[in-house]
Amino acid sequence: LGTHSNTLEIFFSSKAVKNKKMTNLTEVELNDIIRSVINMKPDIKDPFYVLDLGMAKCIMEKWNSKLPQIQPFYAVKCNPEPIFLASLAMMGAGFDCASQAEIEAVMSIGVSPDRIVFASTCKPETHLKYAAAVGVNLATYDSSIEVEKIKKWHPKCALLLRIKVGDDNYARRPLGNKFGALPEEIIPLLQAAHTAQLSVVGVAFHLGSAVTHPEAYRLAIASAKMIFDTAVQLGMPRMHMLDIGGGFTASPQFDDAAATIQAAVESYFGNEPGLKLISEPGRFFAETSFTLVTNIIGKRVRGNVKEYWINDGLYGSMMNMLHDPDRVIGTVKPLALNSYPDNPTCSKLMTYSSTVYGPIANSLDTVLTDYQLPELNVNDWLVFSEMGAYSASAGSKFNGFDTSAIRTYLAYSNKSGESKMNGNKI
Ligand code: PLP
Repeated sequence: LGTHSNTLEIFFSSKAVKNKKMTNLTEVELNDIIRSVINMKPDIKDPFYVLDLGMAKCIMEKWNSKLPQIQPFYAVKCNPEPIFLASLAMMGAGFDCASQAEIEAVMSIGVSPDRIVFASTCKPETHLKYAAAVGVNLATYDSSIEVEKIKKWHPKCALLLRIKVGDDNYARRPLGNKFGALPEEIIPLLQAAHTAQLSVVGVAFHLGSAVTHPEAYRLAIASAKMIFDTAVQLGMPRMHMLDIGGGFTASPQFDDAAATIQAAVESYFGNEPGLKLISEPGRFFAETSFTLVTNIIGKRVRGNVKEYWINDGLYGSMMNMLHDPDRVIGTVKPLALNSYPDNPTCSKLMTYSSTVYGPIANSLDTVLTDYQLPELNVNDWLVFSEMGAYSASAGSKFNGFDTSAIRTYLAYSNKSGESKMNGNKI
């Protein structure tokens, strides 16, 4: 399969998708897919991703069952893999873009500009001009200087006032010290936009990535309601859009958050006619959809500890661990290939305290310490699950290990025990 569009055309016209049989891969299917990729070109030892499109579909179904009236605008920054974007687009998502390049990426797969929110509160002027030229007419702001820039370069742009909510303790990775209007800034910022004859259509918030206190969504929705009322008191047209941001994880946290959001929307906006609700989830869709497969390129034994070097690390796909020390990698499992009998889980093997380093000449590039693994050897493979969020998109080219060159392979299961794979690089 050569290009993105014909890959997708074949994928979405396949019987499994049409008959709604596509689902996420079982662990055994995933292992088989990984082995097939490796066996296709046994001499190639580069790291690669497997994107489980069945998982993405299941996650979208989960979203639609719990928050059906809230359209997700997937946060492209989280993982801009083109096929992933296209599959979300085909399932009805809009997109949160934070730069011209992200807008270009989304529009190049055929998404119309009215399905994009320019959700960076501080936009380069050239990117604003580009948004105006291509008709991306919805953006967030949280400063009066941004109002001046938008007035100058994109006066037709409708605005969402991004607010900071609470004291920033609600998420594993908070954002509030950098983004969002403080309570005392809200009236001046509404007035600044009104005076500039820009239309403020709603309120946006983002509680941080991986929200740990779902109750914070209720506080934020209550604050948004007060701002809707304040705008009317200031003589501005009534707002009609609420953007509840991201911060969801595909775990029970989502169910709690969704229930809290539903109740809060009902109690604060239940009688708000024509309210459009959107959100900006990133991690929720991307995290569990991608598995990273790395190769062991070096080994050292120090006393009781086995040390391994792999060919991806903290300056590559695991960059987010630098900012998010509590990040738990889903699971890390060796794929039994070279040094073991053909046992997919290696579960019966003796394990040892192990350290896993990334390939960079910098001691910070340590991926795992005191982690129990069976004994591995150079050219074995280590599989990291749940690696789709802020991984490939955040890595660097440090030391020449280029994260952007990592290949992605598509797969899904069709519920009949038969898994499918696209064997080419996307
Ligand atoms: N929207 C904005 C403005 C963000 O800054 C982020 C993450 O940094 C997201 C959405 C996505 O957040 P998450 O991946 O936690 O859902």
